[in-house]
Formats: sequence, structure tokens, C-alpha cells
Amino acid sequence: MDVANKHYELNNGLEIPKVGFGTWRSKNGDEAYQAVLEALRVGYRHIDTAAIYGNEESVGRAIKDSGIPREELFITTKLWNDSHSYDKAKVALATSLEKLGLDYLDLYLIHWPNPLEYRDSWQEANAQTWKAMEEAVEAGLVRSIGVSNFMVRHLEELAKTAVITPAVNQIRLAPGVFQEEVVLYCRDKNIILEAWSPLGQGEIFKNETMMNLAEKYGKTVAQVALAWSWYDGFLPLPKSVTPSRIMENLDFGDIELTYQDALAIRAIDGVTKESNPDTVDF
Ligand code: NAD
Repeated sequence: MDVANKHYELNNGLEIPKVGFGTWRSKNGDEAYQAVLEALRVGYRHIDTAAIYGNEESVGRAIKDSGIPREELFITTKLWNDSHSYDKAKVALATSLEKLGLDYLDLYLIHWPNPLEYRDSWQEANAQTWKAMEEAVEAGLVRSIGVSNFMVRHLEELAKTAVITPAVNQIRLAPGVFQEEVVLYCRDKNIILEAWSPLGQGEIFKNETMMNLAEKYGKTVAQVALAWSWYDGFLPLPKSVTPSRIMENLDFGDIELTYQDALAIRAIDGVTKESNPDTVDF
């Protein structure tokens, strides 16, 4: 199965490739450039970056040098915690577009719902930020808008003033990390759940359940984890800078997990859980 060419439909009718390529901690310069170039070469069409990753320039350069027509790509970046106001959001978007060398984004996300800097007024800060993002859709600078690390309370607050429902909520979802309350809420509202750290940032590779299942299905632990992400309707964003792994992480479409195995993966121990966005120190 050509995993990279499968799509989910967003709640605004647009399509999003069902797997994205993660770039957190891929260093600006050669590392991020080569990783994204390789990912595009082997078939990924969906790239996930963020202003705070500091690598938008390299990601943009790889996109350009890949020679792939812009309309065949799906590019996401995220607004950082220092830009939660109407005016700052507009500047942040313009800056990201410039660094990426693009004239529009496919998806723009609010990275975190409750930055330290806005902790006493996060509701208003998100409402104003979202308004600027809705105007960016209107202006053709962004196709879809969404959020990241939002819990139900943040989504409900946003819904009080939002005209556009978020298309996506990007949250930590991995074997052993299943945020049930927000997952059920997003499914109900037709908000696609993007899975960040779908490989548990490496923590799943020594897990016995995962290793046994990899053997059972004749695949690798990474591939079983990504198949689980799809099983639960998530959109995984695996990250790697190693060409063989970049390729390996696209080769999981033939795995058909049983219900029992999917439940066992959901329940594994030892993987770092999500942090509370209302108490993080950034
Ligand atoms: P991940 O779960 O994708 O794990 C990545 C690590 O796993 C790599 O550093 C690599 O060492 C290892 N790895 C990758 N493929 C492998 C393979 N096939 N075999 C063995 N090891 C392998 O972790 P991540 O980078 O934290 O998350 C993925 C992406 O999600 C990020 O790059 C970023 O784009 C996004 N993300 C978003 C947020 C957010 O707050 N929105 C937070 C973290 C990550």
C-alpha cells in the first residue's frame, strides 16, 4: 500500500495526507534540509514543522529543491507561545511564510493553548490569535487552521468565539499514551487527531509487548506503532533523520492489527505521558 498517498478528509472538505514527516530537533542547516529532502524523495508529501523548531528555512529550502509541485505538498507550521495576540499572530505567520519561502500554508496551528506569558488571559489570547488565523484563511495565506496540545477545556473555550472549527488537534498519542477524553471529543467534532511522538520518542523500542507484536506481524516496532496510530484513526508524524528509517516509517500499510493487539498497544507501560498544558513552564 502506498501509505504516503492515503488521505483523511478534514472538516472543511480539504484532504490531508494520512502520514506526516516530523522535524522537531532536526537542526536548521544540513540536518533538517537532508532529512526533508530524503523524506520527499521517498514519498512523504506532508511535512510538520514549527516556528520554535528553528528549522523553517531549511525545510523550505528542501521543499524548493525537491522540485515537487507546491500543490502536491501539505505543509504545516505552528505559531509559538510568544505570539498569542491578534497583531503578533499576523506577524508570526508572515515570518514563517517568509522563512519557508511559501506564499501559503496548508495548515497553521496554535502550538500550545496556555503559554506562561499569557497564563492569566489565555482564553482571550487564544480568541484573538484565532481571529487573526481565520482572517489568514480568508486572505488565502492558509488553507486550514488548527490547534495543538488543546484539551477539551481549551477547545470549548475557543468554540465560544471561533467562526471556524479547528480542522486538527495535534497531541501526544503513542503506544501507551491515549488521551481518551480529548480523543473522544475531537472524534465527535470531526477534528482530525494528529499524533505527535507516535514512536514515543524512542521509548517504545525496548518494550516487550511491542517487540513481541513486531515479531508476530513480521514488521518493526516502529511500523507496528504507526499501524496502531491508523487503527485508532490518528495521523502519525514520525520523525527521523536516518534515510533507512525515513523509508521504514512509510512501510506499515499492510499491517492489520487485531482488536486485542490494538488494545494491548494502547495499554503498554513505560512511555512518557502527556504533560498538562496549563502547568508547563513555557
Ligand atoms: P517520534 O516519536 O517520532 O520519535 C522520533 C525518534 O525515534 C527519532 O529521533 C529516532 O531516534 C527514532 N526513530 C524514528 N524512526 C525510527 C525507526 N524506524 N526505528 C528506530 N528508531 C526510530 O518523536 P518526535 O520527534 O518527538 O515526534 C514526531 C513529530 O511530532 C516531531 O518531529 C514534530 O514534528 C511533532 N511534535 C509536535 C509536538 C507538539 O507540541 N505539537 C511535540 C513533539 C513533537
